[in-house]
Amino acid sequence: MTDAIHRLLEIQEQDTRGDQLRHRREHHPLRTELAEITGALTDLRLRHEEAVGRRDAIRRRQADLEAEVAANNERLAGIERRMYSGEVSAPRDLQALSSEADGLRARTSRLEDLVLEAMEEAEPVAAAVAALESEAGSLSRRRAEAEAQLGEEDAVLGAEETDHVRARAVLAEEVPADLLQRYEQLRARLGGVAVASLHNGACGGCHLSLPATELDRIRKAPPDSLITCEQCGRILVRP
Ligand SMILES: [Zn+2]
Repeated sequence: MTDAIHRLLEIQEQDTRGDQLRHRREHHPLRTELAEITGALTDLRLRHEEAVGRRDAIRRRQADLEAEVAANNERLAGIERRMYSGEVSAPRDLQALSSEADGLRARTSRLEDLVLEAMEEAEPVAAAVAALESEAGSLSRRRAEAEAQLGEEDAVLGAEETDHVRARAVLAEEVPADLLQRYEQLRARLGGVAVASLHNGACGGCHLSLPATELDRIRKAPPDSLITCEQCGRILVRP
């Protein structure tokens, strides 16, 4: 029993190590950074989508205007061909063609102004799209680096955990099942620490000094009896 209780203290040390390894793995700064990067990329993707939508709308408007300019120019060329072909000779007809041509030129000139406006409007939006793409690119590169680095560190921690699990299993074989079960229950209830050593009259778990009468009782108890701290309920290991 004395041996089993001492093994329990070693199991406790192993379990504390296991808890620390898990904590280190779960709260790794790179994991936090990766979560932040993922959040930032999601935000960037939405902003990019919105900017691309605006840019494309302007480009479509510009293309429509340019198509209209081209159609006008074609019509104008047709009118000019007719005017100078000699087919139309009546001054009234020539006058009508000439004023239709003037109307088309004026309309085309207004359309060309609108094309220029659209081009100017698209410029900062296209620049914003490019900036968002470049930002997303560097964040994605950083994410890949962080993932690779985290993978390496997880492998190291994973190897340590395997080592810990093996060492704990060896120790657990030396402790009776009922005692181990009691230890597990205490550990679950007492924040991971179920066994503490008695040191200078104080419990190593709750750090409270035991009353003199209690210390006396412990001293007189058979060496293989299981004693617990009255204050916190942890199993105490005598020095
Ligand atoms: Zn205690």
